[in-house]
Amino acid sequence: MPEHVVIVGSGPAGWAAAIYAARANLHPLVLEGAETEENRVAGTLPLGQLNLTTEVENYPGFPSGDLHQFVRSAVPKERVETYLEPLHEHPHAVTGPELMNLMRQQATNFGARIITDDVVNVDLSRQPYKLKTLGGQTHESLTIIIATGARANYLGLPSEEKYKNRGVSACAVCDGALPRFRNKPLVVVGGGDSAVEEATYLTKYASAVHMLMRRDVFRASKIMQERALSSPKIKLHYFREVDEVLGDDKAGVTGIRVKNNREGGSEDLAASGLFLAIGHTPNTDFLKGQIELNDKGYIKYTTLMRTFTSKEGVFAAGDVADDYYRQAITSAGTGCMAALDAERYLAAKGL
Ligand code: NAP
Repeated sequence: MPEHVVIVGSGPAGWAAAIYAARANLHPLVLEGAETEENRVAGTLPLGQLNLTTEVENYPGFPSGDLHQFVRSAVPKERVETYLEPLHEHPHAVTGPELMNLMRQQATNFGARIITDDVVNVDLSRQPYKLKTLGGQTHESLTIIIATGARANYLGLPSEEKYKNRGVSACAVCDGALPRFRNKPLVVVGGGDSAVEEATYLTKYASAVHMLMRRDVFRASKIMQERALSSPKIKLHYFREVDEVLGDDKAGVTGIRVKNNREGGSEDLAASGLFLAIGHTPNTDFLKGQIELNDKGYIKYTTLMRTFTSKEGVFAAGDVADDYYRQAITSAGTGCMAALDAERYLAAKGL
């Protein structure tokens, strides 16, 4: 028997869809992603981008407080070490990993089934639709909710590729505490909320954090800009871009050659790490040729205020179809909408 609903992805959109679909008795199956080294490097492990962040101060319902006991009781013991340690014992706003584990647990409580695997391709030519996983399984489903999110971009320099995992990273929270970065100067590229968040996080470990911005204009929100401007450890460099990552085989990254894109010329900054925070690419490779994507690769919605895609019975939620809002709360909102759309579609078809 085909599934009624398969949800692909495990960020806020995926879990919100799973909670709603489970409560509608649709017995959703969630393919939450695989735990592979490739996914770790690309930032596409289960639980999505929020699992790679620190405190989430703007998700309604989670003001700063003592959330720790609640989280400990909600998350299964065997997942704590991989997904949550170190637990934050002090009063705090919810962290990304806490929020994602709570959502996952909430979906499980209502009967969502979870498989820890990637979808590598789909056949949407006829119903029931087919999904193939990295582990070699094939699942069939009457409807699919795609909530695979987006991943961090890199600059595309050969020297950056060479030093990935040896000083070059797109995730300060994942890698910032490594010994190679402690008490050393570090470089962050970008001027958005992610860049400020990464730079602020790195100040806990680094001797100094240089933020390189290719313009003199932030994309970050005012509150985040003020955080960067007021930190004694963060030094802002406007009109600066990375020319080359410097290093050697033994030490990894040792510095960054920085070009001045306004006045010309370049200088070398000593640094043992380069952290990229320059935007995202949607995780839609497995959908190519099967569903309509826009020119940036995001899934196209076909109807205003609905999560419909170009394929009947296939719905999209979260960052995989949103290069504009990209917030946890908007992702969760569209996840809920996708589950309701799937439920109504199945009911209308008598399935
Ligand atoms: P973003 O807002 O698109 O900012 C990307 C930054 O990278 C910009 O400063 C951009 O410069 C720069 N950039 C892009 N390509 C570059 C290149 N090749 N070389 C150098 N610089 C480059 O992306 P984001 O910071 O990842 O934020 C994405 C969304 O997530 C936003 O909606 C943000 O509000 C949200 N977010 C929120 C929080 C929070 O609330 N705590 C935290 C993280 C993210 P230009 O401006 O010159 O294009």
